[in-house]
Amino acid sequence: MVSITVHGGAGQIGGNKILLEDRDTRIFLDFGEPFGLLDDYFVDFLSPREGRFGLRDYFHFKLMPRIKGVYDEEYLEDTDLTYVPPEFDAIFISHMHFDHSMHLRFADRNIPVYLGATANAIRRSWTETSLGKVKFGEHEFREFRTGSKIKVGSIEVEPIHVDHSTPGAYGFIVHTSEGAIAYTGDLRLHGPRGDMTEDFVARASSERPIAMICEGTRVSESDPRENMSEVDVGKRARELVSSSDKLAIVSFYPKDVDRIRTFRDVAKATGRKFVVSAKVAHMLKMLQDDEHIDAPDPMRDSSMLVYVRRMANMDRVKYEKVYAELLEKDAHVVDSDYVRKHQAELMMHTDFFQLTELIDIQPKRDSLFIRSKSEPFEEDDIQEEVLQNWVNWFGLDFRQAHASGHASMSEIFSIIDRVSPGVVIPVHTEHPELFARCKSCRSVLPRPGNAIPVGKGAV
Ligand SMILES: [Zn+2]
Repeated sequence: MVSITVHGGAGQIGGNKILLEDRDTRIFLDFGEPFGLLDDYFVDFLSPREGRFGLRDYFHFKLMPRIKGVYDEEYLEDTDLTYVPPEFDAIFISHMHFDHSMHLRFADRNIPVYLGATANAIRRSWTETSLGKVKFGEHEFREFRTGSKIKVGSIEVEPIHVDHSTPGAYGFIVHTSEGAIAYTGDLRLHGPRGDMTEDFVARASSERPIAMICEGTRVSESDPRENMSEVDVGKRARELVSSSDKLAIVSFYPKDVDRIRTFRDVAKATGRKFVVSAKVAHMLKMLQDDEHIDAPDPMRDSSMLVYVRRMANMDRVKYEKVYAELLEKDAHVVDSDYVRKHQAELMMHTDFFQLTELIDIQPKRDSLFIRSKSEPFEEDDIQEEVLQNWVNWFGLDFRQAHASGHASMSEIFSIIDRVSPGVVIPVHTEHPELFARCKSCRSVLPRPGNAIPVGKGAV
């Protein structure tokens, strides 16, 4: 008897926690945190308690599923869910986005976690540059690559690379005793490595899976995301930057290596240098040993520079201190004085949480600000309001250029057509009911915590 239980990611974008059971073998596909999970009950300094109170507050507001045998003893100590040794064999992480991996810290440290080698490098960099604020638990992290076959009890998991807005992203083919089950993770066809997604789709369709767990971020009556490819982002940015004689500030998610490469190329083509933060430089350094990833090295690339902040507590920020010590010794390392004096020669990556650097940089009026991430979907987005206040204060020329990390609705439906699974289980979507429009297949709407039997046991 094989079954799939969606504990997180049913009727919501993100927070995937998908349990797959085959006889006595039980694995989780992803273990993420839903976006906005805490927003109804916590704000600013009012946050859930950590340590031994860890899950007490989450359980009280029903923010986490109460599952026996999955959580770590430390986090259960002060809850009414009794700790029992792990009843799950493994957790497989499709990619290192927050909404697929952030709850690993709550999972029992004795449950091994499988993830791509590149994803593991990103995990290590993220842990280090967050100064201990971001934790993924004390698990044994076991790396895989495309072509790996991982046997766990009665099942075998085959990870296959896909293109998404972070490197080290995978879909899975899970071979069970009743046939194959495909899980898309997050994927897109319009990115620079759409061929990798094609590899996954081809492999999945050759297996004629009994079920496919499929993402549907953009499955919606009205898709607010502009249909741009990564190449389009480069073109638009190049037009904007080449017609400006001021500083060009670009804002995007720092784990998107494709976007880093795109802006590096725009800088090169417009005769500028692309300045990245020490945090981004740290991640790129971790990815240098990975021959499968074309990650630029900002300390060697002639079109890149690394920016160090002026900080009161530099000794505590080791990853930044390493670069700060090279200031004035290595021409690749610059600070706000340099950027202020060379504005027209630079493109600068600015993270939302490092906007204060603009106070030191003093960008001239009408400097470019290119937002290269999704536009906010909610009108009361407080971060957006704050960002617009900064943009107005400095008189910046605000523009948008972004390619989504997700396939469009029609692409998702064509993927399903090609894979032709026995049943589709939509996840990571606010509109699972729209999957009924995909004519060639039967979809089952997951409800949080309800097991869906697949294969021979299916109804
Ligand atoms: Zn993702």
